[in-house]
Amino acid sequence: MKMKPTLLALCAALALFSQAGQAKEVKIGMAIDDLRLERWQKDRDIFVKKAEALGASVFVQSANGNEETQMSQIENMINRGVDVLVIIPYNGQVLSNVIAEAKQEGIKVLAYDRMINNADIDFYISFDNEKVGELQAQSMVKQVPQGNYFLMGGSPVDNNARLFRAGQMKVLKPLIDQGKIKVVGDQWVDAWLPENALKIMENALTANNNHIDAVVASNDATAGGAIQALSAQGLAGKVAISGQDADLAAIKRIESGTQTMTVYKPISKLADAAAKIAVELGEGKQPESNATLSNGKKEVPAWLLTPIPVDKSNIDSTVVADGFHKKSDL
Ligand code: BGC
Repeated sequence: MKMKPTLLALCAALALFSQAGQAKEVKIGMAIDDLRLERWQKDRDIFVKKAEALGASVFVQSANGNEETQMSQIENMINRGVDVLVIIPYNGQVLSNVIAEAKQEGIKVLAYDRMINNADIDFYISFDNEKVGELQAQSMVKQVPQGNYFLMGGSPVDNNARLFRAGQMKVLKPLIDQGKIKVVGDQWVDAWLPENALKIMENALTANNNHIDAVVASNDATAGGAIQALSAQGLAGKVAISGQDADLAAIKRIESGTQTMTVYKPISKLADAAAKIAVELGEGKQPESNATLSNGKKEVPAWLLTPIPVDKSNIDSTVVADGFHKKSDL
């Protein structure tokens, strides 16, 4: 094909530009499971800001908790010619094929917060998720050393939900074996939605004649639904209940005494580091890692951050001190 002189000149200029060490703009596609949950809006905002500051462009889509939608959004990003895919998977078990397609196009893949299993991904960034589960259960055990426990797991297709449960069981199992804790129910909440958690909790209370002393809820959204059900029975504040994410509503519930604790994960650290890693991947560099995790297909280099337990006693020194929430909003 014969190029027009202006096009030729443009190509030459671009080549010179990149030779001069000015990396070309990295194009990132960010496929988010569900922007309906408060935490992911924060992740998006911080990630996009940081990536843009690093000279990248970001195209964001939310699948609103739908597996098919997420797959077609990722296809769409591949077709748009992104350099890097940053994926918060709805279902971490079903993305192997679409990721294989991306890899064929030379696109780098970063699993954000949730692992993508059995797929050729380049990097994983998250918190120590087993630790999150341990912190939740430790707080419940401190509050309720003996009694009836209800376990409310997260989305059954989210790898993190299983890690949270594994961490919770590390703490609970010995006490269950000693007969101190009786697990009176164990359910997983589809798509982590509060309305599903509400129904599950209503049924659990009915099935147990309201004799539940502690609810090990895996995040704040589901804790919120469960607390609505407890409240309808006059039990809010009487039953210990955990959470995760330090959502504003959850911090307010902790202050008013209806939720026992949450786990704060400094999202700015996660999203900032993720943006840096995504840009490095796009530039063909190997980002620094502090862990490796198997995803069933390979040992994936990872960057894992530390979660922080929050209850009434340390709200100011954690989420407020970090600027995660303004004191005036609480
Ligand atoms: C995240 C949690 C979040 C949940 C629901 C998990 O994978 O780690 O922070 O609350 O998904 O979105």
